[in-house]
Amino acid sequence: MNRAESERLEARFAGHGYSAAATPAGADVIVVNSCVVRKHAEDKVINKLANLKPFKKARPEVRIALTGCFVGQDSPELRKRFPYVDDFLKPGEIPAWLSKEDCSPVLPSVSGVTAYVPIIQGCNNFCSYCIVPYRRGREVSRPIQEIIDEIKNLVSRGTREVTLVGQNVDSYGHDLEGKPDLADLLTEAEKIDGLLRVRFLTNHPKDMGPRLIGAMTRLKKVCRQINLPVQAGDDSILALMKRGYDAADYRALIERLRAAMPDIAITTDVIVGFPGETEERFKNTYDLLAELKFDAVHSAAYSARPGTFAAVKYADDVPAEVKKARLAAVEALQEKISTAINSKMLGQTVPVLAETYDKERWQGRTSADKLVFFNGGNDLAGKEVPVVIEKTSAWSMQGKAVEI
Ligand code: SF4
Repeated sequence: MNRAESERLEARFAGHGYSAAATPAGADVIVVNSCVVRKHAEDKVINKLANLKPFKKARPEVRIALTGCFVGQDSPELRKRFPYVDDFLKPGEIPAWLSKEDCSPVLPSVSGVTAYVPIIQGCNNFCSYCIVPYRRGREVSRPIQEIIDEIKNLVSRGTREVTLVGQNVDSYGHDLEGKPDLADLLTEAEKIDGLLRVRFLTNHPKDMGPRLIGAMTRLKKVCRQINLPVQAGDDSILALMKRGYDAADYRALIERLRAAMPDIAITTDVIVGFPGETEERFKNTYDLLAELKFDAVHSAAYSARPGTFAAVKYADDVPAEVKKARLAAVEALQEKISTAINSKMLGQTVPVLAETYDKERWQGRTSADKLVFFNGGNDLAGKEVPVVIEKTSAWSMQGKAVEI
């Protein structure tokens, strides 16, 4: 979401004749797009802002703007803390001094082969650990036609794959007239000439319904890949997290997805060291990961976010070194699983969308979102190229384009 919003800000600035500076030293405006999903991310923002303080002193004419989830509702407090920052913008907000008359709809200035397109902003779920609903507010969907027009425009400028993004894309449309859903949006996107692929990020297991699975199965352009955050495999932890499903519900959903699309790649997100996570409860998460064998797992150690239900009500009682060890255990397990899954692709020829070319090698992704580096002619950008896979690892693959 932040990447999508950075691209859109860049487009706004480009509409006023700005272009990206290579370093802050060469900039007239500096925009810091922040994330506070974990403490580590927030610390990075604070460090970045601290580094800008002497910079602003030396060049007071440089305008500094802070945006993203660090801003939220409490900007008076932030103004006191960072007086040298000129603008505090809520996520997705455009600086008032930048006229709103340019480029409508707002589009990335230089479109790449792939692009992110926000479809819904905010979240109504209030998982107990999560700060997002406090910072981004309640769900607001963009109308289907606006999204489709934006994708068509991107395609006319060379984009071939779009990722529809939102905190919870499964909630898409409930606040719009006629209550369209993500399946309806995907059905409309399928009709766009020149668009080769559509992905979406991210889903909530309690909100993902059969209509979406049906659309994924039916539509040719929708990639065979989904991110479905489980967060924990232990029912008592899931209840403390207020996720609204248990491990059995989640398992059943994975079974439905795999029955409908045997070739689907599924990734997940996991938090280890949540308050109350005993060794036994952690083992339930570990065992679920071992059983369901995801293509990739994005794991993180629990970090209390001030103001959330979990931070207020639960003691952060898992010691840091235990969290670290659990994280390492999940990562080691997943490396083995990803290595085994990816090794099955050895020798296969798969379509790869060629994205970028560097040092005489292409980088692209399969429909299942596997990263592939391959050799081939230098005019392949934006094409789906058959690539024979010659080497695999847990993280990526290598191969060469098959002569057509
Ligand atoms: S669904 Fe995602 S964004 Fe919404 S509260 Fe839960 S973790 Fe946060």
